[in-house]
Amino acid sequence: MRSFDDFRGQSAHIGQLHEDFARGTNVHAYLFAGPKGTGKRSVAQLCVMTALCRGQEKPCGVCGPCRRVLGGAHPDVHFVLPEKGKKSIGVDVIREAIAEVGVSAFEAGGKAMLIPDAERMTPQAQNCLLKTLEEPPQGTVFFLITDQPGALLPTIISRCRVVRFHPLSTEEAAARLCALGLGAQDAQRRARLAGGCVGQALDIDEGQMELRLALSEAVFSVRSPGGVLAVVNAYKDDKERQAQVMDAVEGIVRDILAAQAGGAPIEEAGYAPQAEAYAKKAPLESGLALQRAVMRARMMLGSNVAFASAFESILLKVSEEYTRWSW
Ligand SMILES: [Zn+2]
Repeated sequence: MRSFDDFRGQSAHIGQLHEDFARGTNVHAYLFAGPKGTGKRSVAQLCVMTALCRGQEKPCGVCGPCRRVLGGAHPDVHFVLPEKGKKSIGVDVIREAIAEVGVSAFEAGGKAMLIPDAERMTPQAQNCLLKTLEEPPQGTVFFLITDQPGALLPTIISRCRVVRFHPLSTEEAAARLCALGLGAQDAQRRARLAGGCVGQALDIDEGQMELRLALSEAVFSVRSPGGVLAVVNAYKDDKERQAQVMDAVEGIVRDILAAQAGGAPIEEAGYAPQAEAYAKKAPLESGLALQRAVMRARMMLGSNVAFASAFESILLKVSEEYTRWSW
């Protein structure tokens, strides 16, 4: 079982949360905000277990309530999710959930309501929840969990204690992954790929790793504008992967820049020789130029420019950098 200590690197408030839930001095509503895979759900689960635990050292992980929370089968712990087939959480779903926490607890120790993708609540749903947060039922604790706190109404946020979660450094994340049983090289690659978000690192599939390797070769083989089109064409039609392609290119550029700036050696990232050579031979200035090109491409996508054009702009920049520094 995971413990609060496993998440100390991801939020400054882990110790305080543990203490508050163990003593019963917790507030009634929390907003856990931070990127995907930074431990928000796991910590919420630990808080709930601690509140309901009957063991000495809370959470013990072995008493009845702890095991029921871990198994997702505690009758007083409610998860609020979108209805099947829907993306948003509507007002009806919130009403129903509030009615459920309104009835008295099945077991001693209070109730919990968790909303794992809180940003999915419609404005009406949020307003409905707001009324409950303003006059919370006795003994119920609410956890709103999101990677997009900006999608929540300010009035909702003001009713919650906000706890921010952060990614770990690549080294810390790799160490955590090793502790969870991954091999050293695999852990290192995943930690980099996920930008230090341990949960994301665990979810990465082989396909994503292969994509990153393939792109590190394709992108850094473009030594003249004439080579751009072939690479764009190889990636432009797979709509589902376009976001992954952009994330992967951004990650590769970030790693190259880090290596140029004296951070982790590029060999550890497991890229194609073309990307490794770029990191070793190109000046820092060039890495920075690529980073700006990626940011511009992201902005282009944000203003509905086609993926092919945005990707092309990055590749043109790469070819320009090769020409400029002529190695
Ligand atoms: Zn327990």
